Formats: sequence, C-alpha cells, structure tokens
Amino acid sequence: PSSASDSPNFTGFVRVRGAREHNLKNVDVDIPRDALVVFTGVSGSGKSSLAFGTLYAEAQRRYLESVSPYARRLFHQMAVPEVDSIDGLPPAVALQQQRGTPTTRSSVGSVTTLSNLLRMLYSRAGDYPAGQSIVYAEGFSPNTPEGACPQCHGLGRIYEVTEETMVPDPTLTIRERAIAAWPQAWGGQNQRDILVTLGYDVDTPWQDLPRKDRDWILFTDEQPVVPVYPGYSPQETQRALKRREPPNYMGTFTGVKRHVLHTFATTQSALMKKRVLQYMLSTECPTCRGKRLRPESLAVTFAGLDIADMARLPLKRVATLLRPYAEGTAKRQRHDAAHPEQTIVAQRIAEDLCARLTVLLDLGLGYLALERSTPTLSPGELQRLRLATQLYSNLFGVVYVLDEPSAGLHPSDTEALLKALKSLKAAGNSLFVVEHNLDVVRQADWLVDVGPAAGEQGGEILYSGAPAGLADVEASQTKRYLFNEAAAEVRTSRQPTGWLKLQGVTRNNLDNLAVAFPLGVFTTVTGVSGSGKSSLVSQVLVELVAEQLGQEVGAEEEEADPLERAAPLPTGGNIVSGMEHIKRLVRVDQKPIGRTPRSNMATYTGLFDHVRKLFAATPAAKKRRYDAGRFSFNVAKGRCENCQGEGFVMVELLFLPSVYAPCPVCHGARYNAKTLEITYRDKNIAEVLALNVDDAWAFFDEEPAVQRALTVLREVGLGYLRLGQPATELSGGEAQRIKLATELQRAQRGNSLYILDEPTTGLHPSDVEKLLTQLDGLVEAGNTVIVVEHDMRVVAASDWVMDIGPGAGDEGGHVVAAGTPAEVVNVKESRTAPHLKRFLG
Ligand code: ADP
Ligand code: ADP
Ligand code: ZN
Ligand code: ZN
Repeated sequence: PSSASDSPNFTGFVRVRGAREHNLKNVDVDIPRDALVVFTGVSGSGKSSLAFGTLYAEAQRRYLESVSPYARRLFHQMAVPEVDSIDGLPPAVALQQQRGTPTTRSSVGSVTTLSNLLRMLYSRAGDYPAGQSIVYAEGFSPNTPEGACPQCHGLGRIYEVTEETMVPDPTLTIRERAIAAWPQAWGGQNQRDILVTLGYDVDTPWQDLPRKDRDWILFTDEQPVVPVYPGYSPQETQRALKRREPPNYMGTFTGVKRHVLHTFATTQSALMKKRVLQYMLSTECPTCRGKRLRPESLAVTFAGLDIADMARLPLKRVATLLRPYAEGTAKRQRHDAAHPEQTIVAQRIAEDLCARLTVLLDLGLGYLALERSTPTLSPGELQRLRLATQLYSNLFGVVYVLDEPSAGLHPSDTEALLKALKSLKAAGNSLFVVEHNLDVVRQADWLVDVGPAAGEQGGEILYSGAPAGLADVEASQTKRYLFNEAAAEVRTSRQPTGWLKLQGVTRNNLDNLAVAFPLGVFTTVTGVSGSGKSSLVSQVLVELVAEQLGQEVGAEEEEADPLERAAPLPTGGNIVSGMEHIKRLVRVDQKPIGRTPRSNMATYTGLFDHVRKLFAATPAAKKRRYDAGRFSFNVAKGRCENCQGEGFVMVELLFLPSVYAPCPVCHGARYNAKTLEITYRDKNIAEVLALNVDDAWAFFDEEPAVQRALTVLREVGLGYLRLGQPATELSGGEAQRIKLATELQRAQRGNSLYILDEPTTGLHPSDVEKLLTQLDGLVEAGNTVIVVEHDMRVVAASDWVMDIGPGAGDEGGHVVAAGTPAEVVNVKESRTAPHLKRFLG
C-alpha cells in the first residue's frame, strides 16, 4: 500500500483503522476526500463491506445519533460497523442499486420532483380558458382530492360489475358456486346459508331463477342480518326457523356487487385485488379519457398541451418544448400584454425545469416519460434517476456512495455518467464508487483494490493510491485487466443449427419489427440504454416462446398491483418458424429468488433438501425420530418459536422505518435448542447454513450429490455466499447467478433456449470469464443462449451480435446490425461497433 497521506493533491483524507466488517481483515486505509474513489476487486472480496458496510454505515450511524436519542439506543445494537475508528468522514448519501423489488408507488416525475415543478408551471403560468379561475398546484395531481377526476377518482378507468362478470356460468346452481365472485371457502358458504334462511332457491340453475331474485342477490344494498343454520338442508332450515330453534350464529348478507366493490376499494392485498378484478369490466373513464384529472385541470394547457399529455412525452421532448420559454424566446402575446408577471414566472420555472431535465438527458435518460412508474424501470435506470436528483440538489461536502452506476449502460452512455460524477466532485463532494467497468475505473483519482479473492480469501487492501500504481501489485486480479486490455483470442463463430424467426413485433418502441435469432449458438443483443433490447428479448421473445411451449412466464407478476399497470400497451408479434428446435425456455433474470428472508440460496437450489436428509439420517436424529422436516426453519417443530424461524424480530421506531434486530431467544440461529443439539460432523444445522459455499464444499467432501451442487455455485463465482444468505440480501446479479447455477446442475438434454439480461452486472472481469465458460458449456450441450449485454468482452466472445438502435426510445427500436462480431464492427451506423472493435484482434 502506498503512503496516501503524503499526496499533495488532496484536501483531506478519511482515515479508517481496524475495519473488520464481514470478511475485512482488520484493515487500515486512507481515502481522499473531494475525489472520485473507485473500489475494485473480485465479487465477494469485500468492496461493499468497506464502502457500504463500513464507511456509509458509520456516516449513517453518526447522523442518526445526532437526530434521535431513541434511535441512538437501537442503532447502537444494530448498525455499528466493526471498525476501530474512522476520522475525517463527511456525511454520506448512498445511491445503492435497489435490492429486491421497490415497494413504493412512484413515477419518474415524483422521484425526480419534476412533477411538482411542472404542476407549479401549469398552475401559475398555464393558459386558462376565459373566465376559469386558477387551479392550485395540487389540482394537477390525480392523487389529491383537488385534482382527481370525480368520475373515476383519479384511476383513469371505470370499473363495472355486471351479472355476466359475477356469474360467468349461469347453468350452475348457487350451491354449485354459480356466483364466482363470492369469497372462496367459508365466506361463500356463509352467504349461501344466509340465502337459504332468506328462502332463496340455491339448487336451481342460476339462469332459471326469477329475474327479481337474481337482481336482489347481485345488486341489493340491503344488508339483512338473519339466523344461520349451517349444514341444514333448505327444508330443515325452514323448519328450524318456524320452531325458533337457536341458530348457530347470526349472519349478515352482502350483495355480490357490493362485496366486489368493497373488497376492491379496501383490500391491501394485491392478490385479492387481482382476484376481484376478474369480476369487473374496466373501460377508460369517459370524463378524463384516462388522464385521471378533473376537467378544470385538464382545460389548462402549456405550450398547447394539457399536463397529462406533457407527462407522457419523452423527457427529451419536454425539454425541447420548454426551452424557448426558459430562454424567453417563446411567443406568449396574450400573456405578455395582459399578465407580464406570468411571463416572468413561466421563464423562472421553465429555466429550473430545463436545468434539471438537462441533467437527466446527459445521463442518457431522455427517453423516459414523467408518468413512467418506477417498478417498470431497471435498477440501473432508477439509480441514475436518483443520481440526477442529487446533481441538482446543490449539496456539497457530502460523500456519495454508489454501487456499480454503470450497470445497464452502453459504453457510449458511460461517458455521460462520468461527466455527472465529475460535476458532483467539482461541486465539492466526495465520490466512493464500487465499480467493475474498466472505463470508469480508469477515470478514478484514487483506487482501492480489495482482495486477493472472495470471502475468507479476500478482505485485504491490496492497493490504495493513484490508478497507475496498481500495475506493480502482483496479487491483484484487477491489475490483469486494467493494464493489458489484451484482445480476446480470435475465435471462429459457430454455425447456427437453425433460425427462430419473429414477425410483426410491436411493443414499447418496437414497431412491426421482423427479426431472426440464430439457434444452437451464443447471441448477444446490444444497443444503448432504452434502445429496445429488453422489450425485444425479455418481453416479446420470452412471451411468444413461452406461449408456444405452453409454459408459464412471469409468475412474479402476480404480486404487482394490477392498478399500477397503465392502460395496456399495444403489443404484437408472432413466431414464423424455428420452434421445432426449442423444447424448453429458461429465463435467467435478475428478479429476486424470493421476497422474504425465508427463502435463501440453499432452499432455492434444492441443496437444503439434501442437507436436511443428512441431518435426519444421523443416529441421534433417528433416535429422537426427527425427520427431515424437523430441520426446516419453516416448520413449527424444529424452528425457534419466538421469531418463527426468521432469526430476527422487527423493532418499530417512531418517525423512522422499522428495523430488524436479531431474535433474543435464538440469537439469529432460527432453530430451537433441541434441533440444534443434532450435529452432522460436529456442526449443527444453523452452523451449516452459516458456511459459505467454498467451506461447505470442503465440509461435504463425502457427499457427491451435495458437492456437485456446490461445485456449480463456485463455478459461477458464488463461492463466497453463505448457504443461508437470505434472498433479500442478494443483489440482482447474485440472484441471477444462483438461477444459472440451478439450471447448470440439471441434466442437459439440449434444445433449451436460455435468455439472460445483463448477467455480468456485479461481476469483476475475472468472474466474467468464468461466466463465459458456463454459457459456452450450455451451447456446446446443444442449447441456444441469448444475452442482453453491454460488456464488450462478452459481446466479442459471442457467435452472433444483434445491435438494436440506433438511439433510445423513439430514436431506437430497429435492428441496426446483425452478424458475427467481426461483421458488426464494420457497420457504420452502429454505436456499438467502435467499442466492440477494441476487443477484436
Ligand atoms: P463485494 O462487494 O466485493 O462483492 P462484499 O463486501 O459484498 O463483497 O462481501 C464480502 C464478504 O462478506 C463475502 O464473503 C460475503 O459473503 C460477506 N457478506 C456480505 N454481506 C454480508 C452480511 N450481511 N452478513 C454476513 N456476511 C456478509
Ligand atoms: P433497453 O432494454 O434497450 O434499455 P427497453 O426495451 O427497456 O430498452 O426500452 C425501450 C423503450 O421502451 C424505452 O423508450 C422505454 O422507456 C420504453 N419502455 C420500456 N418498458 C416500458 C414499460 N413497461 N412501459 C412503458 N414504456 C416502456
Ligand atoms: Zn376519470
Ligand atoms: Zn429466534
């Protein structure tokens, strides 16, 4: 390590002493402030443990201490990083990639606060119809009572409940569940028993019941309370009523429509909402035509557009429309004459909006619209949006801690990112960036290389200093890639065994596209961010192939709030030929492998089943008759009852988000004491879950089945992960590699189509090499691999390249080039070609 503190170029240093968080080996390191500092090292080496786990966590802790004595107590036992001391640490802002799925409802406009400004612009400087009084800024938000359209309450759609939707099959009787919209199980039975008491016929087909009865059952708002005799036949019920026999209970009837509407309006569960939505017909709201705002608000225009139309335009177009107002060159004669003050207000707000929009455009996000909901954005797009928000928040003297900001960026977009980072620095801030992209690493003022390997074999600071000095550090993996960008060995592309041809592909910015994917080879799909790669590959291709195979896709979509999805987008396309070569579709994406800490790597891969059987087969377990289920933390018999096998408990905080604390009974072990008494080769089940993959591989050396699964996990570069690492702690890239490993350990039969979206996210170049070997193995086994990718090393190693573009959004959506890497570098229109060229010999 170089002696950092002598360096004359920096204003000051953050001095870390004795850092031991996770795998860090009691390290000391000095990091300059007011500089772009990049943390490098193979995956699992400890970069995040230093940048986020130590530096950011400590900055956060100090901040919280200063705000709340109550929080202080809790955070003392929670988030104190393992470190002796840190001096010179400024306050920190983390811009981390979202782990798991975002839960908050928000849009590009709300995240960036641009919507607020735009509402102000419309309120204060919009064109109002003659005689209409001013609409306040809130009146331009569909989420406020002042703004919401009175007919659809701001939803943009009208939901209707009809006899047909509630009773899809009128040949059934009520007892046979003719009323599909009733709740399942007990709730539905209860309503039926109430109808029996009320004397309705539940054993005649619905269609043969009198109109009057049908209407009352479906549409009444009356809620009679009557005695209920469950289990009695209609005759027995009538007799019991006559005899005034004491009922089982008193039940309340609710009309079916009322039930559906009430559930829809009040349920917190997305799944329940989706269930009742089936019984509703939805149409665009005729009052606001889907724009969600009240008519008075929609009557106000700026630059000729109402605010809803403005929010649907790409940011790039919004900037073009507003620029003349910001520059004072727009013609607003009516206003200028009557209300000169409005012209000034319009100019001020438009200036501010344009300045903010410029930052977003510079970061390559000009293709997004303000109304786009954040759950539909990629994690990289969301991080850049938040970065842009910071860029114009005018903070100084803070450290921004970022996690792979280049994720999802085409090499030609990376320039803009670097510019943004440098302007944050120029404003007097420090940047601590965890990054693998060598184009970013090269721009660092200072490099901290962590290693040499992952987990136990990492955690040391191999180098801290100006980038050039890393060249002398033999142990560094980063050095190998940073200094000799050796061209990939020239390889001959494999010949396709067939073609999968698609036609009429229409989705997002793709319009009636025809494409052909080669089969039996490794294809990369490239293009700038927003050009349409995911729309083509992860959406249309996946859906069409799955449909043909009768396979389910997107089971995860179940959880999405159906109302979050805007009006259905026009989609189209069909497969013309090639399906005869595809027997199975495997999508290896970055979606979480589970949404709760109850799922983890061991459960997902199936490895845990083997391990639990091994524990159940020990003599001690047999003697106590413990079966494999006993060793599951999801089953009552074996788990800790205090935390129900979660290992931690939730602590509610006043004014702050709730936090999790280790369970005081099992101390995070998740099992009860009896279960933990059973050991396999001297480790109990909790200790085995705490092993990382590398250690587990050595530990299970007598169990070929377990070892095989572990070997694959090591081969995809996950040797450092703990077996029991909860799904919620895994990054998208890690989740993706776990899925890939799970696939790789299956017997290979060939004829599968593998689809991956940017699998190199989070991977050090040396890990990328391992991944390439795996993908190559899949192709050699007779499969097809299609990967959306920005890493030119991977693109150069593929057999076929499909470049989408040329630009983003409405400037993209075409196939700019298709061919072998050697062919594609010669296509002049391709923005990928010049970057790819660097990697071809
Ligand atoms: P990198 O950022 O270099 O990929 P990390 O700092 O994330 O590496 O991980 C370094 C080591 O610390 C790994 O062995 C990893 O499994 C371990 N680790 C990471 N997060 C946690 C955690 N929350 N609890 C325990 N160990 C962790
Ligand atoms: P890439 O994968 O190349 O980054 P995408 O396919 O994600 O590009 O996006 C192509 C275009 O489609 C962009 O203009 C993007 O804003 C738009 N788009 C993508 N997903 C959605 C969506 N769910 N809703 C609306 N527009 C979308
Ligand atoms: Zn409406
Ligand atoms: Zn517990």
